[in-house]
Amino acid sequence: MNQVKENPFPYTSDNKRYYTWNHYLKTTFNQKVFKVALDAGFSCPHRRSDGKGGCTFCSEAGSGDFAGNRSMLLAKQFEEQKAMMLRKWPDGLAIAYFQAYTNTYAPLSTLKEIYEPFFNGTIDCLGVAIATRPDCLDDEIIEYLVEKNKQKPLYLEIGVQTIFDETSRLINRGHTTEVLEETLTRLKKTDIPLVLHIINSLPYESADMMIQTAKWVAKWHPFAIKIHMLHILKRTPMALQYQHSPFPILSKEEYIDIVVSQLEVLPEDIVIQRLTGDAPSEDLITPLWTLSKVAVLNDIDKAMVARNSWQGKYDETSKY
Ligand code: SF4
Repeated sequence: MNQVKENPFPYTSDNKRYYTWNHYLKTTFNQKVFKVALDAGFSCPHRRSDGKGGCTFCSEAGSGDFAGNRSMLLAKQFEEQKAMMLRKWPDGLAIAYFQAYTNTYAPLSTLKEIYEPFFNGTIDCLGVAIATRPDCLDDEIIEYLVEKNKQKPLYLEIGVQTIFDETSRLINRGHTTEVLEETLTRLKKTDIPLVLHIINSLPYESADMMIQTAKWVAKWHPFAIKIHMLHILKRTPMALQYQHSPFPILSKEEYIDIVVSQLEVLPEDIVIQRLTGDAPSEDLITPLWTLSKVAVLNDIDKAMVARNSWQGKYDETSKY
């Protein structure tokens, strides 16, 4: 007789084998919560004013392709997008997501001007998510964010991408893992929830290297992680690099296999904010299979069942 296997994973409301962001939101806020992606007009420390430089994979929109229109006032961007979301979820609550470019790359006085209305109630949002680089978080900025985190839920998203400096150089990341670790050491002394962002299939990385990056994340034990597949987009330095000397790109099956292995080494209480990314279809050169996000997520679920796997199955962080 076939025995039905119980899902051993507790942090899910939809039969997933990992701690979904939706589950976190539902159990924390008891209501539908959505993100409103914004472009606050920031730049990035290693993109030049002519738009060149920067990470080789980064799009013209500073990896904020679905964020609001930067020429529009921030409050208007937020209200327009929030109104659209409320048509779908009338009782939903919004997290203002500062997504495009590097959202702490400005003097503290400018950061205060931008962020205060979202924290002091002038703009109606449940919380704020801020995406940035590890080399744009000095002590003064961290201190400010610590204060803001007392006013409203704040999620600080930091681009890791990889822990291998040889890859970081290849993608022109502009900082080393040492810098990243120094920043995380300072941030871990605070109670700001950290979201670490990694990318699979960066040039010439093996599956083992990608799993090593996930193990490194596990050791830092952030609040959440985002795992993305590399997108090669038109009009990026990486598109040229790929055209002149193509490097291997993971197939959907390879990606899923690696993601499941990464989930296995992550502690069960790290929230999984993303396992696929969004790319504008008209700009995506490869891999086209990423356009079908639902299929990727479904196949991850199936692979986890087939491998009798769950998040944290091989979590070794207690050894460190
Ligand atoms: S740090 Fe972010 S915004 Fe800056 S170039 Fe890299 S991906 Fe783009």
